[in-house]
Amino acid sequence: MTTNSTLLSPCPNLIDGAWVDPKGATSDVFNPSTGEVIAHAPVSGSAEINDAVEAASRAFPAWRETPAVERARIFFRFRQLVEASFDRLCACVSREHGKTLVEARGSLFRGLENIEYACGIPSLLMGDTLEIARGVDCESIHQPLGVCAGITPFNFPIMVPLWMFPVAIACGNTFVLKPSEKVPLGAVMLGQLLKDAGLPDGVFNIVHGGRASVDAILTHPKVRAISFVGSSPVARHIYETGTRHGKRVQANGGAKNYIVVMPDANVPKTIEALSTAAFGCAGERCMAGSTAITIGAAAARLLPDLVQAAKAIRIGRTDGENLTTQPDMGPVITAAHRDRVVELVSQSASEGAKIVCDGRGARVQDAPKGFYVGATIVDEVAHEMTIAREEVFGPVLNVMRMDDLDSAIELANRSQYGNGAAIFTQSGGAAREFKQRIKAGMVGINVGVPATMAMFPFTGWDDSFYGDLHIQGREGVQFFTQQKVVSTRWLGGTGPDAADVWRKE
Ligand code: NAD
Repeated sequence: MTTNSTLLSPCPNLIDGAWVDPKGATSDVFNPSTGEVIAHAPVSGSAEINDAVEAASRAFPAWRETPAVERARIFFRFRQLVEASFDRLCACVSREHGKTLVEARGSLFRGLENIEYACGIPSLLMGDTLEIARGVDCESIHQPLGVCAGITPFNFPIMVPLWMFPVAIACGNTFVLKPSEKVPLGAVMLGQLLKDAGLPDGVFNIVHGGRASVDAILTHPKVRAISFVGSSPVARHIYETGTRHGKRVQANGGAKNYIVVMPDANVPKTIEALSTAAFGCAGERCMAGSTAITIGAAAARLLPDLVQAAKAIRIGRTDGENLTTQPDMGPVITAAHRDRVVELVSQSASEGAKIVCDGRGARVQDAPKGFYVGATIVDEVAHEMTIAREEVFGPVLNVMRMDDLDSAIELANRSQYGNGAAIFTQSGGAAREFKQRIKAGMVGINVGVPATMAMFPFTGWDDSFYGDLHIQGREGVQFFTQQKVVSTRWLGGTGPDAADVWRKE
């Protein structure tokens, strides 16, 4: 075992192309596998946000004048650099967040697809044209907004920032990223790769910090649009405050995703999918399948093997220090979060649920101070229980038993959230009924984690999303641009110099 994990990583802000080391207060960044501090992130406030926004504002005129094909070329180079640094970036995600290397790779592929999507910006920005009357042409043009900002959560340190800034910048905007203070290091690596790709100074800026830096973004008069991903209470705050200050906001919130298992479901495939959906990334996914609703005989057919599969999940450190034994699952993000997950599970037992696979006491021998919770299954969960209503965001699967699909849809639709939902069945009729009636923006049919890819919008509903235009896909392009519609009629000249009168010289 090496001692690399004890070295502090630098975590500067990036303002106007220059790396700026923290001058004031800092917050600790942990390696959740071991509980060690691995970096100190600047706790920035309005001064740093103002510096970044002003730099982005100065960079905007030249950047918006840069043709879309040239802007795209920078993202082709950026994509190449991200791919060349793939292993280093994955190692960073595993170390600061706790994802296994396999999970980190998966998240980085999703991120790469967003860069690839942004590379298509010359086509994506093309407008429409039509002759609307005799001799009158109409054309639509998509123009950038100006300075845009992104505020990101801890659970995907690199992927979620990549949902935002490649398309925003490719559209001709300049950008200020405020990463999660719990996982700031991946963003620093992306900032350096953008510089290496030749992005002009000031077009992309990073300011680390917590609430004070976010509030400064929300009220800064030069910020035109804010893309946010995080928990629902904060998403609502961002949406309400940002829009009150005249900004466009897209704010993705938390989730509670149901997976309905019909009695005719393919048992081994469903167990595999449920296990991945509930325990993948230690349950720290907004698309985690955190509640299985079994219909009729499905519980008896499924549960014994599902419990065995959960008990077989090996937890361990993911920080690259012990590569010979890559675990199936890593830690959760902080000690406080581990304690909350454990508390919610304990509370469910006191409210009448049955813990049939118990990960509360999980320990990892070579990392006694890591933040671990083992895979947990709570059976006989009822809607009134706290664990049924709150987002647990840990490796915990609730099981609810129901008699028919109608009751399952009715129950799932009572949730305040509406991010994802899935059904496992061989019946086309049941799948269609579910698809039509379920109150969720992303639906899986025999797909446990129906998270959308870069070319489709990430379509959360209800408290899982505040705003109008979702992140990713064409909606993402629309969010970061404003349309201009030009109607043109050419009139015959009346004098010999008429053709030249529009020229200044
Ligand atoms: P969080 O809401 O605590 O933090 C998100 C961001 O907001 C961070 O950058 C943080 O610094 C900032 N922030 C936190 N509290 C704030 C406050 N009071 N005022 C202003 N800013 C504040 O979320 P998290 O714990 O980092 O991430 C997990 C959450 O994100 C989960 O609820 C998960 O479901 C959600 N999430 C949603 C999606 C989606 O697409 N819907 C994707 C990933 C994660």
